[in-house]
Amino acid sequence: MKKTVIKNGNLIDGNGGAIQENISILVEDGKIIKIVHGKINEDGCQVIDAEGKYIMPGLIDCHVHYGGVFESSDKDWVCENDLEQAMRSVEQCHQSLRHGFTTVRDISRNGIHLRNMINDGFLMGPRIIPCGRGLTRTGGHADSLHFPQDFVKEHHPWGIIADGPEEVRKAVRSVLKEGSLCVKLWASGGGINDWEKETDTHFTEEEIAVMVEEARLFGVPVAAHCENKDSIIKCIKAGVNSIEHGEEFDQEVENWLTKEYLDKGLPLPDITLVPTIGLYIDWYEQFDPPKERDLTGCVGETLGQKEIDRIQKSFRRAKGMGIRIGVGADSFCGKLTPYGMYTHNEMYELAAAGMTNEEVIVAATKNGAICLGILDQTGTIEENKDADILILTENPLENIKNVRLENIDLVMKQGQVVDFNNMSPKDAATIAAKKERTGKKSVK
Ligand SMILES: [Zn+2]
Repeated sequence: MKKTVIKNGNLIDGNGGAIQENISILVEDGKIIKIVHGKINEDGCQVIDAEGKYIMPGLIDCHVHYGGVFESSDKDWVCENDLEQAMRSVEQCHQSLRHGFTTVRDISRNGIHLRNMINDGFLMGPRIIPCGRGLTRTGGHADSLHFPQDFVKEHHPWGIIADGPEEVRKAVRSVLKEGSLCVKLWASGGGINDWEKETDTHFTEEEIAVMVEEARLFGVPVAAHCENKDSIIKCIKAGVNSIEHGEEFDQEVENWLTKEYLDKGLPLPDITLVPTIGLYIDWYEQFDPPKERDLTGCVGETLGQKEIDRIQKSFRRAKGMGIRIGVGADSFCGKLTPYGMYTHNEMYELAAAGMTNEEVIVAATKNGAICLGILDQTGTIEENKDADILILTENPLENIKNVRLENIDLVMKQGQVVDFNNMSPKDAATIAAKKERTGKKSVK
């Protein structure tokens, strides 16, 4: 592969330190070979001049659904045509890449196939760590109340229904067989209807422990949707790697962690919280507009604002305890949660909720790579890592809203500058013919 030199740039390497000025980077065979202050030998290289611009790691979104869903209702999720959803999902992953996301973790049945097509050279798209379908219980967040179970089993874009230790064991083995690299579960409800409230925990400790055990046997992480404190505690106990949403990380959770770990001189469990905070704020601002509700007891105060305060406080508590924070937008449909743009918005909301701009950048790069178990490959700009690079025209450390589409000068994924006018590589068939699928290691 051709050598590339990126020169004269201001480097934000993803480790959280100060900007390094006048940096040049040599990229060869998809890898970052050399990073130097000043000039680098450009002979025979494609040269990209980044003077006055900002070089940073490609962004990582730890929570998207490439289900190809367009509408927001769970009736539509299962009723939209499966093939049309699969086709739409291609555009969804293109949108992520356009917005600078060179890696995502996907929860959907399409992500595995998108990953395969991208890795074989048929499509351009981010590196996908696919969960495949996530585990939900009968009547859970990824079941659909409106339809018979057989129909849901066949058509749900991101859920696989399993009840009891042996069914969940089999479901984990099934999604791994299909090609997933992470196991997702809905440990609590999500509030689509009154039969799956956020306050309800949906799997027993035994069921969650079995999922973690099976994921460990295959060496992949576990991501758990937890919207109440009981599910957060159960999942941390079971050893999951990331808590998704986690908006009830309250005093009781803090006390439990303190008693179980800190008071015993033990480090906190190595988990990442992916708070998806923008989705909630949007929800309460747009779909549950601030209003007085006597029944909630918050007379004179708006329910929307009260919930937003609670969610931000929960996030700050987790962060304050030293829990690692990752960025995830929870984009699930084109209409409400536009891919890529919605994750930029999540970064702004994390800053608004109490993170510095530096911390947000680390959350969207290095922390994402740790969460997905791929820090050896990406997440920071360091020698010997994959050349997943974003160049911005404006400084994101000055204003986090400088991470936006209009400011994206270049996206490089694994050493290749993305040509947004040609998202279907010309020589895909040749690449595919040369490539051998060698299993797990090669798919990341
Ligand atoms: Zn989600």
